[in-house]
Formats: sequence, structure tokens, C-alpha cells
Amino acid sequence: MKDVVKTTCPYCGVGCGVEVTRLEDGQLKVAGDKAHPANLGRLCSKGSALSETLDLDGRLLHPVINGRQVDWNTALETVADRFKAVIDQYGPEAVAFYVSGQLLTEDYYVANKLMKGFIGSANIDTNSRLCMSSAVAGHTRAFGADAVPCSYEDLERAQLLVITGSNTAWCHPVVYQRIALAKKNNPDLKIVLIDPRKTATAGIADLHLPIKPGSDPLLFNGLLAYLAEQDEINKAFIARATNDFDDALVAARRVAGSLAVVAEGCGLSLSQLEEFYRLFSRTERVVTLFSQGINQSSYGTDKVNAIINCHLATGRIGRPGMGPFSITGQPNAMGGREVGGLATQLAAHMHLHDDAHRALVQRFWSSPVIADKPGYKAVDLFRAMEQGKVKAVWIMATNPAVSLPDANQVRQALANCELVVVSDCVARTDTSQYADILLPAQGWGEKDGTVTNSERCISHQRAFLESAGEAKPDWWIVCEVAKRLGFKESFDYPDVASIFREHARLSGEDNNGSRDFDISGLAELSDDEYENLVPVQWPVKVAGQGTERLFTDEKFYTPNGKANFIAVGKCRPVNAPDKDYPLVLNSGRVRDHWHTMTRTAKSARLSSHILEPFAEIHSNDAVTYGINDQSLVTLSTQWGVAIVRARVTVDQQAGSVFSPIHWNEQYSSLKTIDALINPEVDALSGQPEFKHTPVSIAPYKPQWHGFVLSRRKITPELASYWSMAKGNGYWRYEVAGDVAPEDWAVRARTVLCADQSGVEWIEYKDAADGRYRAARLVNGQLESCWFIGPEYTLPPRDWLVSLFAEQTLDDRQRQSILLGKPMDKSKDQGETVCACFSVGINTIRAAIEEKGLTTVEQIGQCLKAGTNCGSCVPELTRLLEEAEQPAMTG
Ligand code: SF4
Repeated sequence: MKDVVKTTCPYCGVGCGVEVTRLEDGQLKVAGDKAHPANLGRLCSKGSALSETLDLDGRLLHPVINGRQVDWNTALETVADRFKAVIDQYGPEAVAFYVSGQLLTEDYYVANKLMKGFIGSANIDTNSRLCMSSAVAGHTRAFGADAVPCSYEDLERAQLLVITGSNTAWCHPVVYQRIALAKKNNPDLKIVLIDPRKTATAGIADLHLPIKPGSDPLLFNGLLAYLAEQDEINKAFIARATNDFDDALVAARRVAGSLAVVAEGCGLSLSQLEEFYRLFSRTERVVTLFSQGINQSSYGTDKVNAIINCHLATGRIGRPGMGPFSITGQPNAMGGREVGGLATQLAAHMHLHDDAHRALVQRFWSSPVIADKPGYKAVDLFRAMEQGKVKAVWIMATNPAVSLPDANQVRQALANCELVVVSDCVARTDTSQYADILLPAQGWGEKDGTVTNSERCISHQRAFLESAGEAKPDWWIVCEVAKRLGFKESFDYPDVASIFREHARLSGEDNNGSRDFDISGLAELSDDEYENLVPVQWPVKVAGQGTERLFTDEKFYTPNGKANFIAVGKCRPVNAPDKDYPLVLNSGRVRDHWHTMTRTAKSARLSSHILEPFAEIHSNDAVTYGINDQSLVTLSTQWGVAIVRARVTVDQQAGSVFSPIHWNEQYSSLKTIDALINPEVDALSGQPEFKHTPVSIAPYKPQWHGFVLSRRKITPELASYWSMAKGNGYWRYEVAGDVAPEDWAVRARTVLCADQSGVEWIEYKDAADGRYRAARLVNGQLESCWFIGPEYTLPPRDWLVSLFAEQTLDDRQRQSILLGKPMDKSKDQGETVCACFSVGINTIRAAIEEKGLTTVEQIGQCLKAGTNCGSCVPELTRLLEEAEQPAMTG
């Protein structure tokens, strides 16, 4: 590799630029790219830890058929032959691709081309369906195209920033940091956070509106009615640039009859509501930033349009510092939209229902057919699979057995499917265990191609590592199968740059300004120019000239060139809480894990932020349901049951439960929280309702609790609850069970022992009290330890963790294990807050109290926490706020 390679982060839709440097000792250093417009050198905790996720442990290195390693040709021939057999017998609708926002644009382009133009079905959908398809549908209804009007710079130029349905601080940390800096530089910038939960993002909000879950359309309908009532609408803009304002206003007034009705429906006080409405109506430069909290809903598209309506009514779009701004979850969700990676799109933002578009694409591809109707959207695809309508599926770079709602149904569908092909860089995922054929794909660091971030910025993701084993680029795998299906000429690309050029040419084909997505200015890039492509925002009609903002000319992509207001009526979730399931389950992300943990769980410091899957509930609900903080609870919905750790907090809204999406079968007994999520979808976008599943919660009282620290992975037998997290040189397990073995010592030897010489056991047993402590030493060094007791607290884990760094344990240390407590005054530092410097919550709380710290900067000076990537700054702020609260009495 070159000394320094510029590439992009593979995680979230912020799309940060990354510089990878090979150091003299051969190690790789990952840093933010100061020249990249998305992050200007910043990286969050996940981006900063990228070099810790590159080892080959768990990588899929060779093609595999039915558990047997094969050569590439055999694998490719088999995939093509078996797909062809299904198509010949049942037709093209019987096969499907389920792809991913992790794919690069070129991978996506050829997969979509093969399915829609050569197989002749639109059965290609993507996991981006789960994170932003409501934004796609909302944009298309309003603007006539899936166009994101804004740039990140608009966040800094706004006077009012409305953040809704987004825990930006954790889910898009670098955008959050840009906002926090903008606020610091401009104290007049007002920030309103709309979220049922008081998340880490609330730290920079001037006003937090903890609305009732799902009441967003009422809030924004109410705002539209208020703007009209106060005569704060832009009548000239409405007249010259929009359609159907009156219809939208009538609908808004019908559901939002008065401020009191809206306040009541949203669960807000009248003064909170009026403050927000006054701020919005009186501030010219307003950006509304929204994400999954809006999109992941059975009426997500209406939520999106209710927001856009308010921007159209005030003419706040297409100008600096204003506009509705959907921020995507995945690194290349936007690239997937550009090539038509959704079952409802064609390619290059053309429409499946448009005869002229279909003819254009077919002519351009010289393809034998062209799909003429939408394919199965994600949730429907797995239903069709279970019903036997889809008989062969190829899953690329995604893990639907964990990430789709009603995940047990998804697993059943995969089990029923005649042919499951999985191409991935990871050997064992919850999905790959259903695969008949596994194809090794390149991982981050090996892949080369382009991605597009949330602000339409196309960046080059460059390779800096050799392919692991026999791994190949996804585009190469798709093209090789296409060739074997008989389409050699159309898929005979010499390299990835050729695919990009074709994609760019298609975007400009017969376009003439009729379609928003046009990168024809990049269609003639030489290989060198492609290699050196610098980040650029589409449209790019002339090489080197990107477009910062859309709709500056007030022209939209509808038949008459005007933007559409959409009448948004009464919206309510399909599944409401009832006496059996009285609470609302809301799922989402945590700061330091990404999707289904296949990469972030490899990093010990990322894993130390939150160690276990959890359910966050309000303290009042905790009292009602008899739940203690840190105890285990059972969550039950109509679709599934799970045991997780309780986190009791006043930051959660009473009546709601939050649980993270990441944990899977490899890391916990939970398998996936998505097994509990209702599979209801938005009728237009097909996006599932991840934020609103009726749920009940009850204490789970196991007979025993325990934890295991072990240098080797173990199988946590007998545990009805377990979770696993990586530490530095060891694995950490939290366990609990209903049935205890007759003798823990015998069980410990079965689970922890491997044939080894020099083994020594230190043990303490109290059968009457149900306590057992054991440490297993090999040649004097701590190999594993196992603590069991009737309660969760047990001894602090951190003290034991520190013993793993010792070459041998001395008598004092051995004695302390027997006693079950540290000999010195070392403290349990608690869960990690600052991942960069491994600073725990207890350490920070103690420093704040003992040293009287009052600012984040002082914490940084004292403990270094928060001084590198800055992702933990919102949590440090919260800890300072917490310390300021008067102590509870009584
Ligand atoms: Fe990666 Fe973090 Fe940037 Fe997202 S914000 S792209 S996860 S470094």
C-alpha cells in the first residue's frame, strides 16, 4: 500500500473520510481525513477503532458449499446453475437478491442490473429499506424525486435546528460534533430536540420535546396549522413553487384542531408546544434533521411529508441554512438509492412505473428484458420466501436473521428456502448458518469503489489491504455469476472504474435536467482520475463541479415542476398497547456498536461501553412492575420473548421501553431483539415499525447469577441468560440460570478445562449460600475465573480483569480471589464512557466529586476522557449535570 491511503469509514451515513497510514512497525494507524468535507479530520469512537476490527479471526476465507470448501469456479457455476434451474422452472419472480447499504455503489449497480435487466424481476431489495425508505417515499411524493436538498454546512448556517427522531450524538456522532461546535461558535443557534427519550443529544438542546411515541405527524400538522394561523407562511413561494397547499392545510386543521388538542395528543405542555412553534415561525434559517425515529414507522412516509410540508409552507428549502434533512443510517444507503437498489426503483433515480424510463434503461443496458413492476420489499420478501414463492435468495453483506422485524419468521423463511446463497466477509453470522452456499467477499480495507453519504457526497473508498484468503469484490462475484447465466458481454467489466463510468453515463442518458440524479460529468473519468476522485456532491454535470444544495431554482421534479404538499391525516400505530402488552418497545442503536456487531464486537474498547443487551425503562414503570436497576427482566411481545438487563432511568419516557438492536446469537442468549418487533410496515415505503411494538415487562428471577472471564471462548452451558463481550486478552460473560448443577466445581472443570499441563485451581465453595468462586491458573498465570452467587452484584469485575495482565499471580492476589474481593482499594471503574482512553463511569463520577470538576475540559485535563474522538462528551456533560442535582433524600 501507499504510505497513506485516503478512504471512508464503513459505518454510518455521515460518511467520514479516513486516512490509513502504515507505521514503521507494520501497524496501521487510522485517523480522520482533514480534507474530507464530511468530517474535516474528526472520527467518532467507532471510526477511531477501525484498525482493531481488521484481524482475520472469523473471516470467511474460501467458497463453501454445504459446509465443504470448494474452488471459486465450482461455487460460481453452482450458484448460476441453481438460480437458472429455479428461473426456468418457476420464472424470474421466484428468485431474489437481498443486498445492503454496506455494498459499494459499483457492487450495487451490477446486482441491480443483473436482477432488473437480465433476470427480469425487481426482486432486489436492501437492508436500507429498514432505515430510510420512508424518506425516499416522502421525498418522491413531495419533490418528484428522491432528493435530499441540504448539505452538512446547512447545519452550521441554520439559526434553528430541529432534530427529530434522531439520537445524533450516538448514531451520527461526527454530525453531532459539527452541530455542537456550531452552537459553541454561535450561541444564538437554537436547537430543539423532539424525542420521547432524553437521549445524549439532549445535552445541546435548548428545548427538548419528549413527545408521545408516534405523535410526530400531529406535532407537524399542528405546526402547519399554526404557521397559517399566525400568517407566517410564504404565500409567494407557495403560489409559484408548490401544489396542493390548501388540501394539506385542511387536513392539518382537521387533525390539529387547536394548540390544546395538539399538546394533549403529543403529551406536551402548552408552553412547550408554543415555544417550539414560535421558534419555528419566527426563525428564517431552519433545518429539520430527521432519521430513524421518523422513518421507522407504519406511517413513516406521512411523518416525512408532514415535516416537508412545514418547510414548503415557509419556503425554507433550497437556500443556505434551511431545509428538511434526512440523515441515513448506513454508509452507502444513498449509493444504493442512486443505482435503484430498492425493489421499488429502477436505476439512476428512474421509475419502474414509467414506460419511457424502462425503455431507456433497457436500451442503455441492451438487456433482454426489463422488470416492469415492483419486486418484494424486505419484509414481504421473507414472507414470500416462507410461503415458497421465492425459492432462491442471494443475501449480500447483511444479516437479516438479526436485523429484520419478526426475526423468528425470517429464520423460518430461510430454513424453508430451497437455495440460500450468502456472500459476506464473516464466516459465521446468524444468517450464514442457513446458507447452502457461502461466498467470501472482501472486507473494509480490501474493497475499492465509491460510496455516497447523507449529503449526496460521493467519495472513493480505497483498498489498503490485500484480500483475505480467496475473498473477492462483491461486484466481481455478481459479474461472474451473471456471465455464467449467459450474460457475458454485459458483465465483462475489466475493473471497478468501468462500472462507475457506466453508472455515471446512465445517470446522464436522455436526462437534460429531467432527473435529479445526474453525474454524467464523471462518466469520462480516466482510471487515474477515478483513483484520485475527490469527494463531490451530486448532481455533477461537469467534472469537478458538484452541487451543494438542491432546489435553489425552486424547480422540482414533478410534472409541473412544483413541489407537492401532501395532506397528512390522522396517523396512529397499527398495534396499540393493551392490557397484555401495556408498554411501547422502541429499538435503536448504542454509541459504540454497529448493526449486528460483526465488526465492532472485535474491539475490546468498543465492547466495554455497553456490555450487555438491555431494556431501558422509566423509574415509575420500574416501581409499577417491580424492577430494580441492573436486574434481569423478561420482555414479551406477540412475536417473541427475551431476557435482558434492566436500566432504570428518568430519561426514558414512562410507558416506553428502549432496547438496542445489535446483540445477536453469537453474543447473547437474546439472539436478537428484532424477534420481538412487530412486522407492520408503512404502506408506501414498506419500512417496518421498529419504534412501536406493544410489550410487557416483568422481573426475571433466576436461581443463580454469575460471570466468567476466560482467555478462551466458552459455551455458557446451563445459562438461561448469557451475554459475551470482548476484553483485552479475555472474554467476559455475564450469566444467570434457573437450574444449578449439583456441583459447580465439576461444571467449571467441564466448561473451562482444555487439556493443558501446569493447571492449578483456586476455589471457594459455599453450597448452602449458593456461592462458588474459582480461578484456573496455567503456569501461574490467570487463565479464567468463574464467580457464582445468588445475586447479580458479586465482586467488581474490573479488579479481576486487571489480574489478566499479570504473568503470575502472587499469594495476595490468590488470596483475594478466594475471598472474592480485592486486597487493595482499587475500585470498579464501571462501564467505559471514554472508549479512547478506557475511562469508566465510576472513575469519572469519583473525580467530579472528589476534585470538584465542573466542565468537560476539566474532566479531560484530569482523566483525558473526551479529549480524542469526542464521542463521549455528551455523556460527560450528563455526568456533570447529574452531579449538580441535589441529592435525593427520604
Ligand atoms: Fe464512521 Fe463515526 Fe464518521 Fe459515522 S460518524 S462515518 S461511524 S467515524
